[in-house]
Amino acid sequence: MDCLFCKIVAGEIPSTKVYEDDNVLAFKDINPNAPVHVLVIPKTHIDSVDCVDANNIDVVSKVIVAIPTVAKECGLANGYRVITNVGEDGGQSVKHLHFHILGGEKLPVKLA
Ligand code: 5GP
Ligand code: ZN
Repeated sequence: MDCLFCKIVAGEIPSTKVYEDDNVLAFKDINPNAPVHVLVIPKTHIDSVDCVDANNIDVVSKVIVAIPTVAKECGLANGYRVITNVGEDGGQSVKHLHFHILGGEKLPVKLA
């Protein structure tokens, strides 16, 4: 499959890893929008939140469980934002489920 984040998981494209376990990888976003901007992804390919179902919820839950660990490792004791973009209108540019963790400053825009 021609998927950028699957290639990062496979080590075919380098990344700056901040957390890894059997199911989850977290790495620095190449184009950060905040002092801390990390992407947390499942190692297996899932297109987006729109494709979460009973068959993949176990691995998705492991991604969610990793988020506070990643935040702690990044020093985000004062809070942070978790974003996942879905599809065209959601502005998703990489079609492999990922959760953005943003922090390290008081974040400016609040849409929800
Ligand atoms: P999306 O727009 O799909 O929600 O988020 C995709 C994110 O992936 C963007 O923030 C973008 O900067 C990041 N990104 C795109 N290509 C690469 C890459 O090759 N390496 C890393 N570390 N991040 C990437
Ligand atoms: Zn993928």
